[in-house]
Amino acid sequence: MRYSRAFIKTKKKTKTNSDTLEKKSLELVSYDYMIRTGMIKKLASGIYEWLPLGFKILKKVENIIREEMDKAKALEVLLPAIQPKELWEKSKRWNKYGKELVRIQDRNGRDFCLGPTHEEVITDLIATESDSYKDLPVILYQIQTKFRDEIRPRFGVMRAREFLMKDAYSFDKDDEGANDTYKKMHKVYTNIFDRFGLKYTVVEADSGSIGGNFSHEFVVISNSGESEICVCKKCFYSANLEKAKIFNFSPEDEAEKELEIVETKDQKSISDISKFLSIKESKIIKSLIYIADGVPIIVLVRGDRDINEFKLINVLKCNELRLSLDEEIIKLGLEIGYIGPIGIKNIKIIADNSIKDLKNFVIGANKKDFHYINANFGRDVFLSDEQFFDLSLAKIGDKCYKCGGELTFSRGIEVGHIFKLGTKYSKALGASYLDENSNKKDIIMGCYGIGVSRVVAACIEQKLTEKKMSWPISISPYEVEIICLDVKNEELLKFSNELYENINKKYDTLFDDRKERPGVKFNDADLLGIPVVIVVGKKFLESSELEIKINQTDEVFYKNKNEIFDFISEIIKKL
Ligand code: ATP
Ligand code: MG
Repeated sequence: MRYSRAFIKTKKKTKTNSDTLEKKSLELVSYDYMIRTGMIKKLASGIYEWLPLGFKILKKVENIIREEMDKAKALEVLLPAIQPKELWEKSKRWNKYGKELVRIQDRNGRDFCLGPTHEEVITDLIATESDSYKDLPVILYQIQTKFRDEIRPRFGVMRAREFLMKDAYSFDKDDEGANDTYKKMHKVYTNIFDRFGLKYTVVEADSGSIGGNFSHEFVVISNSGESEICVCKKCFYSANLEKAKIFNFSPEDEAEKELEIVETKDQKSISDISKFLSIKESKIIKSLIYIADGVPIIVLVRGDRDINEFKLINVLKCNELRLSLDEEIIKLGLEIGYIGPIGIKNIKIIADNSIKDLKNFVIGANKKDFHYINANFGRDVFLSDEQFFDLSLAKIGDKCYKCGGELTFSRGIEVGHIFKLGTKYSKALGASYLDENSNKKDIIMGCYGIGVSRVVAACIEQKLTEKKMSWPISISPYEVEIICLDVKNEELLKFSNELYENINKKYDTLFDDRKERPGVKFNDADLLGIPVVIVVGKKFLESSELEIKINQTDEVFYKNKNEIFDFISEIIKKL
């Protein structure tokens, strides 16, 4: 492609407006970069146009995904973006999805939504088009625009309201088959992300309260990411923070002291009590009241730790969970700020493992302005083993539950998510099949998403430095860039043209044929970050030599015009 015809609209600095969301987006270098290079243009909050340069990258990402999915014998389909309400009512998500679901009505007042995901439509397709074991297993996928009215659309295409997703769905006869398909898709995903040339990790993710199912996220490592991930230094167990299982509690070796009730007037928070009593926060037990599907429950956790509500939902197997309101606590007859497990009747109590081995701890006395000190299990507080769970959020200093190794924390961008769904949607939408003996059985499902447009932004976050961009060759908008430093010089232009025609036959090449100063061309080349840049300039006139810059390594070579093709072929093989 000749630069002069490529409709590349690089800009010096992104124009900001007073819109605070716009400012937030600019905090991400990828958004600024995409605007500055003219890859995308904002049409409205969270809604973007993909211009030729950006669309080229998007297509490359899409093609890698398509090739790997096809290799795995997944079948491509294209489902409508507009979906009828009735299907979403069957899965009970019409109301549950809330405001993120973009709802529309047709001229007859019938309700539809713009698909944020396609479990309903695809399960309905299988339910109506397939009823025999002979069709199974099958994996269907599509690469299609999704709509989510995100509460905070930001960071450009990273969290957009309209974005491109690859979503795949698998249908299996039984659990074993579904687990095999899941493993196969896990491998397909690692192949895809390896080909993108990005540093990423696969983490165990939360799969909600549906028992027996599991899920993994593919996370591109980047400090600007919204996902927090934990990785064990020793065994590389990795999980997102919501899921990370922990083990860090060593039994305390202390003689039991006598239980005392002490006045703690106006000392309600853990830090207040800790200071007031001169007792470490880790010796105080927090008693939190949660409402799980409408039922109150007391959750005990060490004063210096926080409850991980994802873990709590999984343990309680509830759909809705929230902290109780003050008036609900009062109605239960409890004293806000002074709640403790002693003397509680009729409210279920569960506890985080962090308190299991505590000795001589502080708890609320269920009496205004009073706490107990030196409380102990088995003497003052009675909890059975069945009441203890891993409920708290992992934090620095925690140990890996698998090997006891040190957990490290980093940030990343979730670009893919694979999920074993089980029978949640097949049951709701009637996707069943007749087995070899004509017995009716539920189909076991899995779903597998990749944020196609998010991958592009995540790549920029990882590969852009203050000085320049460096695209991985697999998804770079072009593989080679040729810069003719002086198009007014006939000899230079003639050779550059020939070189371009020749190299472009094998490699996707951008030819900077513009009537611009060398400085402008070099600046734009640094901004575009094409892996191999060939400069046709003065040296060519003097000694038929060309300068070759390898973006990834910052290496510079000088080669004779006759060697150039073989040389860059060798280089590109290694990139
Ligand atoms: P997130 O936690 O970031 O909101 P999600 O769990 O809602 O993601 P999924 O429903 O699993 O996402 O969607 C599959 C993939 O689509 C995600 O892994 C992500 O890469 C991408 N994605 C999700 N929401 C958006 C969005 N608003 N803009 C761009 N990509 C998105
Ligand atoms: Mg989301």
